[in-house]
Amino acid sequence: MKALIFEGTLELREVPVPALAAGEALIRVSMAGVCGTDREILRGYAGFRGILGHEFVGRVVECANQEWVGQRVVGEINITCGRCAQCQRGLGRHCPNRTVMGIANRPGCFAEYVALPCSNLHVVPDSISDEAAVFAEPVAAAAEILEQLLLPPGQRVAILGDGRLGLLIAQVLRYAGQEVTLIGKHDWKLELARAWGAAVSKNSEADFKPASFPMVVEATGTPRGLEEGVRLVEPRGTVVLKSTFHVPANLDVTKVVVDEITLLGSRCGNFSVALDLLCKGYVRVEPLVTKVFPLEAGVEAFEYLEQTPCLKVLLAVHTA
Ligand SMILES: [Zn+2]
Ligand SMILES: [Zn+2]
Repeated sequence: MKALIFEGTLELREVPVPALAAGEALIRVSMAGVCGTDREILRGYAGFRGILGHEFVGRVVECANQEWVGQRVVGEINITCGRCAQCQRGLGRHCPNRTVMGIANRPGCFAEYVALPCSNLHVVPDSISDEAAVFAEPVAAAAEILEQLLLPPGQRVAILGDGRLGLLIAQVLRYAGQEVTLIGKHDWKLELARAWGAAVSKNSEADFKPASFPMVVEATGTPRGLEEGVRLVEPRGTVVLKSTFHVPANLDVTKVVVDEITLLGSRCGNFSVALDLLCKGYVRVEPLVTKVFPLEAGVEAFEYLEQTPCLKVLLAVHTA
């Protein structure tokens, strides 16, 4: 099969179709999404080598459990041991023995086929298109905030970063009844958020005094966003950290202590919540798709992302 492999450089190569371990399903990938994490991996994040990619939708073509065969599915990206203390607590996403598809010790989905444990799979309702289903992972990551925090209705929240994740978080928090201000750099991205009912700002330093928000979500993808988040948050407020970097961030820890700020790391979320939000139309993702490339043009897709202002690039793998 064809696969996009990163081993210091990114290449399209011919590799064997994955062999199935017990309890796994073989999925014929229909569509995959390129994410900021993939681009960070190309810059050295996580030290990953192998088939890239962790956002996909596809159809199960082989599985010992026949009920899965033929199902259109998306898949949770953490593959857990099921036996450790974290797994026993239902926190498999924190299993110390886990592998992560396309990120840590496990081949990814920028390939014609990918293997995953059946326990990771979620059937996609027919009403969700392939283009939208690919967003299950980032929508789940956005909705993870709702699982971690009980948000009082009508609370003012600033979101830093008008990238794909920031725009998804803006929609999820609007759905949760929050009064959202999206702070970004790009008029065309901020316009999307404005249409969804968010207030927007292009210059938070000029527009907002220090301690302007009880909650700030940092989704800029750069370490600088964290400093601005700590500046904007009120004493006793919460800064939710969504970005992963390949370099350490600078942070005024004294301010965090003196103002008793809660820093809350937030990563992957629950796919069933994401599919529900997509199915009911509370989160709209189609406006975020900038361009679709065939898998064979995967290297060009990454070059395009470096050069073009865009939100989401998808890879079409099997179209029928
Ligand atoms: Zn991702
Ligand atoms: Zn475990």
